[in-house]
Amino acid sequence: MATYEVGVWGTETLHNKQGNDVLDTIATFIERGAERAGKDVSAIARSTPIPAPTEEIKNSFSAESPCYYNTTLTYSDLLDWWESYWDCNYLDYATDSNLLVTHNGPYYGGGLGNISGPNCVANGYGIASWRDTYTYSGSTSGGSYSMKSCMHEVGHNVLKANTGDPDGDGKTQHDVGTTYDTSQGISVTVMNATPDYFDYLKNGNECNYHPPTSSFDRISFRYSNCCQGKWEKK
Ligand SMILES: [Zn+2]
Repeated sequence: MATYEVGVWGTETLHNKQGNDVLDTIATFIERGAERAGKDVSAIARSTPIPAPTEEIKNSFSAESPCYYNTTLTYSDLLDWWESYWDCNYLDYATDSNLLVTHNGPYYGGGLGNISGPNCVANGYGIASWRDTYTYSGSTSGGSYSMKSCMHEVGHNVLKANTGDPDGDGKTQHDVGTTYDTSQGISVTVMNATPDYFDYLKNGNECNYHPPTSSFDRISFRYSNCCQGKWEKK
């Protein structure tokens, strides 16, 4: 069985605000979530802080280029910058996914992932607030959306760029989720764990699964069974 290698990196701000060990927690969730979907992942926290110019992920910004001395360039978002940094600064990068975790308070979650390459970015702001008492079973409260975002964006790196679209809704990697009815409510897997992505699932996912409910209560920190056949080494 192929082993997928994931590097979990933090921005300088993330390191300063939450410490290095939050990255270990994220790595553990990624490994265990994948394991429950039958995938072998080696996720390792990387101790080198990344000097990201911003903690905000989705806005355009100007910053000094990581590649060219004394040159300011405009980046479409932080993922664009992280890919450029990865191109020009040799660090001990992982083969399949390199997650850069930011600390963008007061927001929980948010991220971007490259569907055809090994880079992604997620906001880990909320993780420190609940990780000490959290058990792996799942919760939608507070910082769990930050952990969901980390696992979700890594999913974009390791799933096939086109997971197949038999239902024709054009939402391939966001349309492979599942729900579980648990004693504490309906849990939804990480690729569909926000209401907009859950909408894609309601019409049936790419494995023709139709969840029986129209909402969910909790996040299940796993990649769904439907995902299992859709991982790919790129
Ligand atoms: Zn996504």
